[in-house]
Order: sequence, then structure tokens, then C-alpha cells
Amino acid sequence: MAAASTMFSDCSPSSMTARLLPLRRIHIDSTLFRSSISSPPLPCRRTISSAFAARMSAETSAKVIDGKSIAKQIRDEINIEISRMKDATGVVPGLAVILVGSRKDSQTYVRNKKKACEAVGVTSHEVNLSEDCTEEEVLNSIAGFNNDPSIHGILVQLPLPRHIDEENILNSVSIEKDVDGFHPLNIGRLAMRGREPLFVPCTPKGCIELLHRSGVEIKGKKAVVIGRSNIVGMPAALLLQRENATVTIVHSYTKNPEEITRQADIVISAAGVANMVRGSWIKPGGVVIDVGINAVDDPESHRGYRLVGDVCYQEACTVASAITPVPGGVGPMTIAMLLSNTLSSAKRVLNLK
Ligand code: NDP
Repeated sequence: MAAASTMFSDCSPSSMTARLLPLRRIHIDSTLFRSSISSPPLPCRRTISSAFAARMSAETSAKVIDGKSIAKQIRDEINIEISRMKDATGVVPGLAVILVGSRKDSQTYVRNKKKACEAVGVTSHEVNLSEDCTEEEVLNSIAGFNNDPSIHGILVQLPLPRHIDEENILNSVSIEKDVDGFHPLNIGRLAMRGREPLFVPCTPKGCIELLHRSGVEIKGKKAVVIGRSNIVGMPAALLLQRENATVTIVHSYTKNPEEITRQADIVISAAGVANMVRGSWIKPGGVVIDVGINAVDDPESHRGYRLVGDVCYQEACTVASAITPVPGGVGPMTIAMLLSNTLSSAKRVLNLK
């Protein structure tokens, strides 16, 4: 882990008052980001306590948990395992991706997943269905892949067009090939003691992997997860609990989120609200995993916006002992975990350890 730099200045006390950014959430992907313009913006406009200001001025600096390099390391490991698998059995893992419609963002995510597959030796198969296809057509594609022994993982790119019932679609993916980990049976097993899910959703799995690979002890620690969505917050809380942390979930109805979060040795934030978690929310020495990916307007960027997390990075890195940046933290782990789930699936079928 490298030391955090203080290049992000949006949350600094001076820029907080000087420059109020109209914040918005962009839409993302079931496994990458979630967008919606509907979420209320949270400007970084608030006075900070003198105690906190003193702490900031002490210029302590958290270690950066470098998701980009950890994800690369994982992809390299997967690549080696797949070569060995191919030599031993002649089989390589296969991932099927079903894309409905022509959303540009979804097309980009599918392209990125395909590229990542190719780089590690996973064969990828893509089905593109038109925006106005029927639910039955999507179900038929899934059924074909469910029955195809060369396919070890099936991923339905979300969001789906409104006329298609997402729950029906996700339920129809064989749990043995549910590499997104969204099937209710996999989530149910994750929640139950003494049961093992076949797959764990990629983003929360990536958060735990970042903690493990950064040497952060989870057992016996107090953890706070901000957010309780089916794809990130809820499974992240379940995973932390399985790791024997004592877990509290903060959501939009939680009273005193700042006070609760400040108790935590480990914070995983997945609210989708830019800069919501200020430095004063962080316990000194705590570890911060920032899942949020939020677009804030930035006239200086050629795109007109840039991506920030839920956590006010500059403040938090003066208080925390370790922190993930955005971008470059949890994001790269999501695809790495998808590849890892696909490899595990193939190994399960082939009875390999
Ligand atoms: P959802 O909108 O589905 O869930 C957000 C959760 O945060 C909800 O449980 C909501 O509470 C809670 N929340 C929202 N506002 C507040 C608030 N002010 N205080 C406390 N809790 C709040 O989002 P996702 O879980 O899909 O995604 C969360 C973030 O993670 C997004 O920024 C998304 O882009 C990002 N993401 C990043 C990924 C990556 O690979 N790095 C992958 C997936 C998502 P309630 O339940 O009460 O509404």
C-alpha cells in the first residue's frame, strides 16, 4: 500500500465553501456502477469541528489500498490457474454475457468484461438481443447457456428494459452458473450460518478481498456498512459478519449516521452519495473501503464531470489508517471477482481444487 496523497481537494474546508459542485449519480452497471440522476445531491458544504481541523492539519496520511494493482495481481493468478487447467484437462472457463438493448454504457461494460476474459484465458460468449425482444427470448438464451457444458458462468447485463421482469430473469440463471451471485438461493445461503453460497456478488467480494490482501484483520472488529442494496450493501454486511466482524448497517433512515460510523474499525460505504462520509465520521486509525462511484460536475475535465466516491477522500485520509481511492479502489476488483467466480465454477465442474 502506498501513502495517500492529498490530490483530491473537493472536500477541503476552503474548496468546500468556495466551490459547491452540483453532484449527481451516473448510471452504471449491475456489477460496476449504479446511476440515477434522482438521488439528492450532497454538497460538501459544512463547517468542520476544530478538533477535526486540528487532526487534518497534523497531515497524517492513510495508506492507499490500491485496487488497481491488487486486481491485476488477481488476474495474473487467474491466468496462471487457467493455463494449468487447460494443460491438465483441455478445458477453459466459459462466460456467457446476455445484453438486451443498445445502451452505450452497458455495451461498454460488456466490452470491458470481454476484454478482461480474453486477457486471462476465459472464453466469452455474447448474446445481443434487441431492446424490444420478449422476456421469453431472454429466458430462452439463459436456458441455452444453462444447458451448455462449455459455459461456466452466465451474466445478464443490467439494467434490463422495463418490460422485462428482472427478478424472473435472474431467477432463471442456474445457481451453478450464477457468477454475479444475485440468485436468491445464493444470497440466502450467504445469509445462513452453516450454508455456503456457490457464488458471492462480485463487488462486496472484492471489498473483502481488498481487506484480506491489505492485511486488515476483520475478526472481532466493529464494521459499518453504509447502504443495504441487494448487490452491494446487504451482501457486504453479510460477508463481514461471516468474517466475524460485528456489523451495523447505516441506511437512509438511520439516525446519527456520523456517530455510528465513527465507532467503526472498518467502514464500507456504498450509498452512492458523493462526499457524504466526512473525515469526522471516521474513527482514527479506521479502514475505509469506498464503493461509491459518483459523478460530480467538473468543467476542467474534458468530459465535464469526474468520478468521486462516497467518502471525502482528502479528509478521510488524514484520519484513517488505510483507504481505497475512487477511481482505482473497489472498481477494478469487481471484474477481477467476476473472473474469479467463473474460474471457481469451472473448477467445481471439473472437480479441481
Ligand atoms: P443503491 O442506490 O441501490 O443503494 C444505495 C444504498 O445507500 C441504499 O441502501 C440507501 O438506503 C443508502 N443510502 C442512500 N443515501 C443515503 C444516505 N444519505 N445515508 C445513508 N444511506 C444512504 O446503490 P448501489 O448499492 O447499487 O450502489 C451504491 C454505490 O456504489 C453507487 O455509487 C454505485 O455507483 C457504486 N457501485 C460501485 C461498484 C464498483 O464496482 N465499485 C459496483 C456497484 C455499485 P435505503 O435502503 O434506505 O434507500
